Amino acid sequence: MRKHPDGKTISRRSLGILGFTSVFAASGLATAPAAFGVGEGPGYGGNETINSSILHTYDELVAELKKQAARQQILELEVIGQSVKGRDLYLAKYLTDSANPTILFLTQQHGNEQLTTEGALEFIKHLGTGKNSAVLEGVNVLIVPMLNPDGAMGDVNFSLDDYIATGRHLTRYNANAVDLNRDHVVKIQPETQALHTNVMRKYKIDYMIDLHHQGATAARDGELVSGSILYPTTPNVSATVLEGSKRLGAVVFHAIDPTGWGHLGRYVGGTAETISRNGIAVEYGISTLLFEMRGMSDHFYDSYVLGQKSNGYLIKQTVVTLTETTRAIADGSIDTADTSFWDTLAEQGSRGEE
Ligand SMILES: [Zn+2]
Repeated sequence: MRKHPDGKTISRRSLGILGFTSVFAASGLATAPAAFGVGEGPGYGGNETINSSILHTYDELVAELKKQAARQQILELEVIGQSVKGRDLYLAKYLTDSANPTILFLTQQHGNEQLTTEGALEFIKHLGTGKNSAVLEGVNVLIVPMLNPDGAMGDVNFSLDDYIATGRHLTRYNANAVDLNRDHVVKIQPETQALHTNVMRKYKIDYMIDLHHQGATAARDGELVSGSILYPTTPNVSATVLEGSKRLGAVVFHAIDPTGWGHLGRYVGGTAETISRNGIAVEYGISTLLFEMRGMSDHFYDSYVLGQKSNGYLIKQTVVTLTETTRAIADGSIDTADTSFWDTLAEQGSRGEE
């Protein structure tokens, strides 16, 4: 039993499907202090060193994916293209039955939003092993971790001198200083082309969660959020796709918001189809959900960066999101997910950039 900062005593069991200890141990973050309250991890505020060295480098990510593919018979890796700087872009595939529904998890279109990738790696480490793999009898899972490796490695054709992190810098844009999440209509950048040509058009996908990080100060009902979610808001999305998106959001909300560390808001986002949440829903008829987690790994704005003391619960938030949506699709419970919370979920207190 541990003490919640607001005085409530919470059991390890109430924290969700994986104990913090197992998440930390598995991720090599054993020395990271656990954060239990929302916003417990401090914002940067100029008072803390933001050290990016605990994040996987691109090379470490690839090595881990290959290690898991060697361990897990069901996991296959596919190179879907190359970044501007020539880094291979990976798709991790758990394809069990073409008759099953398929979900795609996409991380790090924005290179400075890395804890979602850390969480996806944790998810991959456990998905195809032991009794965890039973869920795959009912669902196909695709994962594109780190779509923007050049930005993640700070290997870009523009200056990052004013960025905050020590260790390597990480940036939103790709090496050409383009925002990949504004390139889903014209698809000019090699990273977006790879995603559309070799994932979106090649596989029959039913659901997608696009994982991001936003600034560190967004709040709902007066309390800092651990993240915010939103379905497609373009008027061109079909009613069926929109309903699926809202059900996907319901599974996420009900898995995260009741926990001691989770507090979700409604993201405030636009209708442009250049954004994957909207564009992919319309172009491919895929039910999409945007999940914007709290705080970025690096930036030049102080208020966007979040101290690494928050890494534990944000990585866990990704692991729980991926695990619970995979399970709900596999067992069909997503089909009856209660979407009524959307009617009352308040918008978060600041506008993001998705
Ligand atoms: Zn983002």
